[in-house]
Amino acid sequence: MGVSLPPSLSPSSIASFKECPLAFKFSYVQRLPEPPSPWTSKGTLVHKALELLMCRPAAERTLPNALVDLESATTALATDADFTDLVMTDEEWAAFHADAARLVERYFELEDPTTVTPIGLELKLQAQLGDVRVRGIIDRLDLDADGELVVTDYKTGSVPGERFEAKSLAGVHMYALLCEQMLGRRPARVQLYYLKKPEAIIATPTEQSINGVSKRTTALWSAIAGAAKRDDFRPNPGRLCDFCTFKPYCPAHGGDPAEAMELKGPGTMISPGLPLATAS
Ligand code: SF4
Repeated sequence: MGVSLPPSLSPSSIASFKECPLAFKFSYVQRLPEPPSPWTSKGTLVHKALELLMCRPAAERTLPNALVDLESATTALATDADFTDLVMTDEEWAAFHADAARLVERYFELEDPTTVTPIGLELKLQAQLGDVRVRGIIDRLDLDADGELVVTDYKTGSVPGERFEAKSLAGVHMYALLCEQMLGRRPARVQLYYLKKPEAIIATPTEQSINGVSKRTTALWSAIAGAAKRDDFRPNPGRLCDFCTFKPYCPAHGGDPAEAMELKGPGTMISPGLPLATAS
């Protein structure tokens, strides 16, 4: 029997299906919860700090203020499950915050934020490509000196090797496509800022790159629809297995995928709901 399709695709769900169809099924078809990890929560924190920095008037976007914004972001996110559910020792928390501060400092090696003209932060975009709806959140949309659009995506992980660079840029070209469809203008530049190194990977979207990403996305959607019809999402063991929440349930590692539903915890509602009589 088949399974239902996710309502839309995003650059991360596309990357997930390409990396491992079974992990995609767990995350985006069954929507199983994944506990936070130090690296994803650190990414959330640093993104929030840089968002707060960009909300300041240009002249105030200094490193000392960015570190104040990092503290504000820490306070704002303190009650978020991404942080309350993280189990770490005091030393690990200290290293976590020192690392976040280092990432914010390194951002300043990539550009001078006082020269940036942001027109959108954490911008939600979506577009319809044939049968598939595509959604994405752009970290930052700027206007450059010529009045052209620039998409910026902050990355807090490592710079990808050559093999994975094209894959990372595929996500950014998707943002360019979303911009063109929703705002009616193709960005002049899309840039990935890898804060850890720090290093910028910059690409210029063209009609060809946008058409390419559009065609590849609709083809991928057909592949996902086929897999959903047959409920045939195969594991693809690789370098991400060690970071995969679902490894204990993965047949490639001796697990049983049927048991993964326990991640939803007790008390999961049945959908559609039972026709319970209302009290008179
Ligand atoms: S453990 Fe590896 S092969 Fe299994 S679902 Fe996760 S990423 Fe895929």
